[in-house]
Amino acid sequence: MSTIFSKIINKEIPADIVFESDSVLAFKDIKPQAPVHILIIPKIEIPKVTDLKGSEHAVLLGELIDAANKIAKEMGIADDGFRLVFNCGDNGGQEVYHLHLHLLGGRKMKWPPG
Ligand code: AMP
Repeated sequence: MSTIFSKIINKEIPADIVFESDSVLAFKDIKPQAPVHILIIPKIEIPKVTDLKGSEHAVLLGELIDAANKIAKEMGIADDGFRLVFNCGDNGGQEVYHLHLHLLGGRKMKWPPG
């Protein structure tokens, strides 16, 4: 089922896009939890981490990580460090069922995350 992120991919609703390639889109989270909070998503509809298969999606996953590293560098948080998070399912705190990698940085992250 399509989510609000499909509408962002199709440019039907606005988003503050910071990176785009043929397969990946990244935009600022509307409710940032850190000074830098970017969502990095595949353009194809994959609901959640448990729908991923290494054999099928390895390249795509690499592209998500490459995008995260590029954005972190551009936003000046690569050297100090940052956090990458996939929330999965209800207990994981997932609200939008279109796979997305959270890139969080610009402050010291806490652990455990709660
Ligand atoms: P999750 O809880 O892992 O599913 O994260 C979903 C994230 O999407 C949350 O951090 C929301 O703030 C964010 N979000 C929801 N709608 C939008 C939107 N239209 N533009 C940007 N971020 C959004």
